[in-house]
Amino acid sequence: MISVKNVRKSFGDVEVLKGIDLEVNQGEVLSVIGASGSGKSTLLYCINGLEPVQQGVIEVDGMSVHDKKTNLNHLRQKIGMVFQQWNAFPHLTTLENVALAPRKVKTLPKAEAEALAESQLKHVGLGDKMHLYPNALSGGQQQRLAIARALAMEPNYMLFDEATSALDPELVGEVLDTMRLLAEEGMTMIVVTHEMGFSRDVSDRVAFFHKGVIEEIGEPEQVFGQPSSEHLQKFLAKVR
Ligand code: ADP
Ligand code: MG
Repeated sequence: MISVKNVRKSFGDVEVLKGIDLEVNQGEVLSVIGASGSGKSTLLYCINGLEPVQQGVIEVDGMSVHDKKTNLNHLRQKIGMVFQQWNAFPHLTTLENVALAPRKVKTLPKAEAEALAESQLKHVGLGDKMHLYPNALSGGQQQRLAIARALAMEPNYMLFDEATSALDPELVGEVLDTMRLLAEEGMTMIVVTHEMGFSRDVSDRVAFFHKGVIEEIGEPEQVFGQPSSEHLQKFLAKVR
């Protein structure tokens, strides 16, 4: 489980997370929506320890992320992250790209790492692209490669930060389909997204960020169907 308690985070004088409380349970899909600059990415970075916090506690499977004694490498192995864009190593095949972290971080033997990579590439529908180089892939395929790479570390959690925002519209669907598959398989996910249809269909809960606070959180029917916050109503009117 991921637990976020009263987290405050500033960059210099600017407070961008203003007391975030959140729990994401095993098997749950939480989507995070909200305007640009509202703190969505920052929360994800705090959860996997890429950013320090000024106040509050984040726990992942009981490990306190910002405790000095916490082994961040161990923590990050539990958490797969997929960003808007991931630049795969151009001189490695897709198989080698996905096998890299299992080899280097998990120190698996080559054959074992590649078997893991192969199964994850098949999982995301790239089984026939294993021996291609990344520049031979479409943007949608590259994002699925990024997902496979994260999955190859066998994480307990997947965090997506606008994974489809940089894609041409016709390539968005294949990536969302892959994310939907993971959700159906029971992966615990936090998905920052502008894809309201996906959020509505796939999420167990939706959190609306506004200026560093979670202004509304609930089941998709409620958040999209009967938003109580005025800011959320305005946001939805703009993005729909
Ligand atoms: P979102 O993902 O919702 O668009 P972010 O979490 O990226 O929002 O950013 C929240 C706020 O924090 C923004 O005002 C942004 O400019 C600021 N911010 C983000 N990262 C940094 C950083 N590394 N240094 C300074 N300010 C930052
Ligand atoms: Mg962001």
